[in-house]
Amino acid sequence: NGYFDHNATTPMHPAAREAWLRASERHWHNPSSLYRDAGMASQQLESARERLGTLIGAEAERIVFTSGATESNNALFATLPLDAHVIISAIEHPSVHEAARGRNVVELPVNTDGVVEPDTLRSHLSTHRPALVSVMAANNESGALQPWQELAALCREQGVLFHTDAAQWLGKLDSADLGICDYITGSAHKFGGGKGCGFLVLPQEDSRLGFIRGGPQEHGRRAGTENYPAVEAMVTALETFTPRLSEVAKTQSSLREAFIASLRARFDSLRVISESAPRLWNTVLMVMPEHDNLKWLTRLSRRGFSISTGSACSSGKEGSSVVVTALGADAAELRRVVRISSGWDSTAEDWQALAAAFFEVHEELNRGGRPQ
Ligand code: PMP
Repeated sequence: NGYFDHNATTPMHPAAREAWLRASERHWHNPSSLYRDAGMASQQLESARERLGTLIGAEAERIVFTSGATESNNALFATLPLDAHVIISAIEHPSVHEAARGRNVVELPVNTDGVVEPDTLRSHLSTHRPALVSVMAANNESGALQPWQELAALCREQGVLFHTDAAQWLGKLDSADLGICDYITGSAHKFGGGKGCGFLVLPQEDSRLGFIRGGPQEHGRRAGTENYPAVEAMVTALETFTPRLSEVAKTQSSLREAFIASLRARFDSLRVISESAPRLWNTVLMVMPEHDNLKWLTRLSRRGFSISTGSACSSGKEGSSVVVTALGADAAELRRVVRISSGWDSTAEDWQALAAAFFEVHEELNRGGRPQ
């Protein structure tokens, strides 16, 4: 299996697909209708909300189901007045960065490992009183884990609301404590739960959220007929992965390290971004020593391997990387950024085949770029 772009999206887990089918066959009714079958759909939806709450350590009443992380992030920022001060990190996903636009935004810089340091936030909070601090849990490009636990505690201490976009954390690392954050964003298709479904967690007392107006669904916080089958698939995927996470993390991170070592043996000036920071077990963001990333990508693609150049959603700009830009790289380096992200079932053979394909492509490019 040559698919190494799991941070862009993942295939639906078979258990999630079955859950979706079952829910679609049995409980396709409109949960807001008044007859028995609709009541059952509504009950199933509420029970899925409870199950999700248990997995992420948040009360079910705090969870609003959405169409995905982009909607969740936009819905949250839409609640802020236009003159609100907000602090976001310099490496947020465009759906946070762009949704925050127009507010009074301060961007927290990252250290040389691509990580937001709690002291940086502490010193900003001594001079700013923002309406919201938003720092992602794990970065989608580098995989660098951000210290959201400390940042959330710091914000709580100062009486400031804290949001984390956990789209890349959920389904990869233990999420049982995420509920300490006031706001949490999640997206099903990043963890085998299917496309078009996600959630936003709000503080218990917060009932504002008028981003999508209409009927009284989602306790009046998001209008539109609920997509119970998609919610069921999302929650089932997370339930399926959660007990296996530490085992998968161990296997995949050692396969990834072996991959990096074999590439280094060939390319000694290979630069791995955030290499000394704790990272997601599946991600490698690297700056190739030579040749543009699109050349690597297209030649690897011809050989059946899917990788990416930085992030798939960086403002539609081909090959741009928010993280490598925040780290102050020059334009030439930016053109050599590639991202590899494995899945829970990527095998040693998949990783070895990917490394071998990199070597083959390197030879081809050095011969003058003509494919054989
Ligand atoms: N936030 C992060 C950190 C992401 O990685 C992504 C997906 N690239 C999103 C938000 C957007 O997610 P969705 O596709 O569910 O809108």
